[in-house]
Amino acid sequence: MDKATNPKRRQLIVGNWKMNGNLQSNEKLLEQIRAGWASNSSDEHSAEVVICPPHAYLQSTASILKNSTILVGGQNASEFQSGAYTGEVSAEMLEDLGCRYVIIGHNERRRMQRETNEQVAQKFIEAQRVKLIPILCVGEPSEMREQGRHLEYLDQQLEAVFSRTGCDAFKNAVIAYEPIWAVGTGKTATPEQAHKVHHFIRKKLGGVAEAVRILYGGSVKAHNAEQLFALKDIDGALLGGASLDAEEFLKICRAAN
Ligand code: PEP
Repeated sequence: MDKATNPKRRQLIVGNWKMNGNLQSNEKLLEQIRAGWASNSSDEHSAEVVICPPHAYLQSTASILKNSTILVGGQNASEFQSGAYTGEVSAEMLEDLGCRYVIIGHNERRRMQRETNEQVAQKFIEAQRVKLIPILCVGEPSEMREQGRHLEYLDQQLEAVFSRTGCDAFKNAVIAYEPIWAVGTGKTATPEQAHKVHHFIRKKLGGVAEAVRILYGGSVKAHNAEQLFALKDIDGALLGGASLDAEEFLKICRAAN
């Protein structure tokens, strides 16, 4: 089935604000996005839009976006249910605060917080346990791409989750392909590079392949979004920098319609 006619593959745009903003600047940005998206949100072909603010601002974000079609997500969740894990946020807490999605295994966490494939898999399972939709991030570093070993690397990241959950779990999950060399660098994968990886991931999903949304992430901007969204295996984008600018963000959301 073509992605345009597949109801399970509604285009999805996720804004990851990372550790940016404050109450005042968030309110301004959210009001601009909310107002700008209002005219698109009644269109059944419009993209689904999710904003992932820092955890400290989840409640205020959810309150500003109440009665809009824009959803809220977390940037990370613990693999544990509760307990003595100072500074961590549980998936259940995110759900309690109104989140629908949670980003799992973002490359910044894998690299800076040393999250392992196994930990990421456990976070995925915990998110689904409380009915959050995990957005599983995978992506290779530049050395792997240069050595032509990127698919092997991605396969290991995916297998760590697939082997524990089975492919069926992905009916209620999203995958984001984010080549590390493209995140926050201004370099984007070429449509051909993105296409090859998305196709590889979709094939790996076996029987559920046509039901799973696979996003691209890595320096997506208004000027390159349309070209990426035209590819048949790309179902939207995970955005960092572009999600902090209302006009840029809205242009990308509209390009995904
Ligand atoms: C990201 O952090 O997930 C991301 C894609 O960032 P950027 O859009 O800034 O490259």
